[in-house]
Amino acid sequence: MPDYDVIVIGSGIGGLTSASLLQKRGLRVLLLERNPTAGGLCNMISKNGYRFDTGTSLFWGFGDGEVFHWLFHEFNIQNILSETESLIRKIEPGLQIILPNHRVNVYSEREKFYDEIKREFPSDLANLMKFYQESDRIEGDIFNILGNRHPYSFKNHYQKNNKGLKRLYTLLSILLKKNRNIFQLYNRGSRTDSTSEIEIFIDLQLIFFLHKRTIQTSLPLSSVILGIPQRGIYGIKGGAAALAHILEREFIKYGGKGVYDSTVEEIIIKKRRACSVRVRTKNSVSDIGGKWIIADTPVSNIEENLIKKKKKRLQFSKIDKKMGPALVPFSVLLGVDEKVIPEPMGEHAIMLRDYEYLPEGDNVIFVSVSPSWDKSRAPDGKRSITATYFIPEDKSSKINWEMEKDKKKEEMILFLEQLMPFISDFIDCAYTLTPEDYQHISLRNNRIIRPFNNYSNIYGFNGLPFNTPLKKLLIVGDNAFPGTGIAHTAKSGIRAAEYILKKY
Ligand SMILES: Cc1cc2nc3c(=O)[nH]c(=O)nc-3n(C[C@H](O)[C@H](O)[C@H](O)COP(=O)(O)OP(=O)(O)OC[C@H]3O[C@@H](n4cnc5c(N)ncnc54)[C@H](O)[C@@H]3O)c2cc1C
Repeated sequence: MPDYDVIVIGSGIGGLTSASLLQKRGLRVLLLERNPTAGGLCNMISKNGYRFDTGTSLFWGFGDGEVFHWLFHEFNIQNILSETESLIRKIEPGLQIILPNHRVNVYSEREKFYDEIKREFPSDLANLMKFYQESDRIEGDIFNILGNRHPYSFKNHYQKNNKGLKRLYTLLSILLKKNRNIFQLYNRGSRTDSTSEIEIFIDLQLIFFLHKRTIQTSLPLSSVILGIPQRGIYGIKGGAAALAHILEREFIKYGGKGVYDSTVEEIIIKKRRACSVRVRTKNSVSDIGGKWIIADTPVSNIEENLIKKKKKRLQFSKIDKKMGPALVPFSVLLGVDEKVIPEPMGEHAIMLRDYEYLPEGDNVIFVSVSPSWDKSRAPDGKRSITATYFIPEDKSSKINWEMEKDKKKEEMILFLEQLMPFISDFIDCAYTLTPEDYQHISLRNNRIIRPFNNYSNIYGFNGLPFNTPLKKLLIVGDNAFPGTGIAHTAKSGIRAAEYILKKY
């Protein structure tokens, strides 16, 4: 008899979602985590009275019918979304796009967003409105189609009698658009002098959530991404770690067992099935059996670290190769006086260092500021800031980060002067998170972020790659579901849990 029904390797949002759901539904679940705390990339670093994000700082998926909304209902803790609890709050504007001569706030209400466009790009207003309306229509269709197949999504709003036919029709029309990109919607209108500026404006909205430019993204996927702010961008009191803590608490409440400071060193295979894991806790090593194993770690980690059989490793390596190039982050963490933060900036901004170059790599800077209402993140009158860029893995491997991190930190601060004048004079403390630090936090091999390749035939739009070449081994996490954010990561966790529950 295996010791557990399910063993979950890793307590990122993907692993925590699966573990807590399965435990609540009555299965015996063991959660194994290498770090001393849960959360993976959803963690915080405490220094000098400040608490900094380790990356994850902008949240979505909490709106009506969205993934966390569903999850919290499932655990009967939906009150944490209520305004009175004030734990999770919608942020307005969700995002600010910064161009050399423009600052555009992306509000959840389209009318308010159109007012911004009217102010910044008056001659493009009509085209852009048509563009967003068409994009929103596609996004709405996708949301409703998924609603029928996903418990966490929306109810279907089609008439009962021809529901099936309408779904089929919408699905077909979306599939036909798969190989088109969203500029084909925009360029239907006449090109104006500002077209290239508009292209960067739309690129930056996609890059913020997807790390892909418009020409690299299919029409259905870009519509979903451009629709995120409309469904709501949120802030969490206590940051990403608070979300991980909520899921961990539910897991424990229903009797789940979490073991920390424990590294899974091998997934043991018998008769082509994953049947147990070899775990190291300090100096002791033990084998623990599970009917199912869920790995909250990328395919490349499974291949390189966890599977010893050569033939099986090869199968994982084939999947990994299809996933496209990886990115690694570099972040500068700053504790600052809040008076340097310009009032209209909001909590999240994206901009280019140099608008003469393409919006990619270290040319794109993501800036997140802790919300003024979250007093747990900084001393009174102060704020914590995380400024990040992502560069290709092969470029990063040529950099000696230990030697260069201070120089790169200074460069970042100098750059931030453009966004927050005089910031250098108001910094209390400054730290860096290099790609190696991120590797350590997530235990990922050097491929920290794998932007989802939506043209790839391994996943396809809304693909479900949780099945692996090994029987009884499922994979969750941001490598296992389209999109590179916690909402998609949680979805991957739900899908894997549902799959196992169906087999019981
Ligand atoms: C710089 C940066 C900024 C980001 N910003 C945002 C954002 O603003 N909004 C957003 O939604 N998303 C953001 N993301 C993405 C988001 O953080 C991730 O998609 C999500 O947290 C990944 O969760 P996960 O479950 O896939 O895995 P992870 O968070 O990587 O967790 C995996 C866990 O498994 C453990 N583990 C792995 N292997 C083993 C093993 N063998 N034994 C034991 N334990 C193991 C690790 O220690 C880790 O705790 C950002 C990511 C980065 C890097």
